[in-house]
Amino acid sequence: MTQFKDLGLGTLVLKGLSDLGFEKPSEIQAEAIPFIVENKQDLIALAQTGTGKTAAFSLPILEMIDADKKDLQAMVICTTRELCLQISQDIRDFSKYIKGINVVSVYWGERVDLQLRNLKKGANIVVGTPGRLHDFINRNKIKTDKLEYLVLDEADEMLDMGFKDDLDAILENASKNRQTLLFSATFSASVRKIAKEYMKEAKEIKIGKENAGAVNVKHEYYIVEAFNRYEALERIIDSLSDVYGIIFCRTKIETQEVADKLKQSGYDAEAIHGDINQNTRTKIMASFKKRVIKLLVATDVASRGIDVSDLTHVINYNLPTQEEAYTHRSGRTGRANNSGTSISICGIRDLGRIKRLEKMIGQDFLYKKVPSLAGIIDSKIDTYINKIETEAPGTLESNYCDKVIERMKKIKKEDLIKFLIQEKFGRIINSNSVEQDLNADLKKTKKHLSGPNVQALRLSIGKKQRADIKTIFALINSNKDTKGMDVGRVIVKQNYSMISVSNKDADKILDSLDNESWRGQRLMIERSNEALSASRSAGRHSRRRRRSSSRRR
Ligand code: ADP
Ligand code: MG
Repeated sequence: MTQFKDLGLGTLVLKGLSDLGFEKPSEIQAEAIPFIVENKQDLIALAQTGTGKTAAFSLPILEMIDADKKDLQAMVICTTRELCLQISQDIRDFSKYIKGINVVSVYWGERVDLQLRNLKKGANIVVGTPGRLHDFINRNKIKTDKLEYLVLDEADEMLDMGFKDDLDAILENASKNRQTLLFSATFSASVRKIAKEYMKEAKEIKIGKENAGAVNVKHEYYIVEAFNRYEALERIIDSLSDVYGIIFCRTKIETQEVADKLKQSGYDAEAIHGDINQNTRTKIMASFKKRVIKLLVATDVASRGIDVSDLTHVINYNLPTQEEAYTHRSGRTGRANNSGTSISICGIRDLGRIKRLEKMIGQDFLYKKVPSLAGIIDSKIDTYINKIETEAPGTLESNYCDKVIERMKKIKKEDLIKFLIQEKFGRIINSNSVEQDLNADLKKTKKHLSGPNVQALRLSIGKKQRADIKTIFALINSNKDTKGMDVGRVIVKQNYSMISVSNKDADKILDSLDNESWRGQRLMIERSNEALSASRSAGRHSRRRRRSSSRRR
């Protein structure tokens, strides 16, 4: 088995990896790393989302560049601010033990002077979005004449996102001695175009079936009120004829709650998240692989190591906060030539996000209605009767059955049927679910879409950092640009807070407060897709429901 140390990486990089718990290279890493270390030829590397492409280009670059030189030697071009932050953080983690590496990320939405100050310190690696990079290159703040490595990450997205002109300009002027490395999940027409225009004779590495996930995965969504979310989950699961999958939740607490309730209702479910120790996690994973556990309830982080290739479903109990994560999640089904379905349980405010996801993955999502209880039971019984009709009398040895038939003659046929139904479907029929329509009123959804333009913002301070509603208002009112601004709901969580402001004010807050220091730490503010205006009455409602249903259980 290939190890990281066989790939031409030095001890400092290896030490960083071992701190991160990276034990063995992924396929794309095993192929791309030695190639980049040993060759100057351009490279096109194709592998599905979530296969570790960031490390596949970052590690060899860290190995090859001269950390003692302050010239810009490597530039990573990526499509979004989130990716910029993610990739630069990854590179910082990988280079923890290499002195002299300075990674700077540049993107719109953060104050220019801060980014310039960071660049001035002598960045040897820069990670940026095309527009901002272009701008800085034009103003001679970034010099690309000494560039040795130029990475195009998620190249399949770049042209579609309208970055053609920026790319033209950046690549036109970059050092001709550079090695261009293109990473992508698909070999789409636009990737071919980029390769043709900007790359020399490139080596191609392709892992797995290109974009296999996207083709084989169907995407479906349901829209429910927040307080019906769990109930809807049970119904949706019940409506599936066969399910072996992962249910994604946003937090550890939610993950545990959902798994506990599912277990109580008799489903073969278990939770895995960061608070579950390795030992237990290993056991749960083993049962999941053996299909003793059919439903794994997981956080995004905990699910990363899972490699099971024949999942029938991925269920998003909530849409992930970051759209990027949706591809990671849905890519867990539909692998290795199997088909799969990615189901999302959405709130009434999520329709806009569904539209964005459709655009992102280039596929339509199918709106489905949460079936009624009676509907589920009817169709299950129907399927059962059909099965009896087509498969009866079965293949058991007849002289054995004869004895049983003789013994059961006394039992009335009606009673026998009732008993069978009870045995087979009792859990669903007797479940404490109340027959009610769990689908949200779509009129509300539309109203919300065209309603007042509210933007949720996520702040990097929460209870742990001793922030509360008062300190957050104080923060906004202490800045001259945001003073007196209308703020809607404020929710202070453990490690972060959410505030809602009108769309027109969002940029102002981002410009004035993001990256400011707050009580000695750097404050980060970003736009969030989380629907935080879920009404208070919904919260009360769900508590009441929960209490009454636990009594019935
Ligand atoms: P991609 O760019 O291919 O979509 P990423 O580079 O974002 O994938 O990696 C996905 C996740 O897998 C990240 O959380 C990363 O830290 C993790 N990861 C990558 N390589 C390894 C490895 N060799 N061992 C363990 N985890 C890894
Ligand atoms: Mg990536």
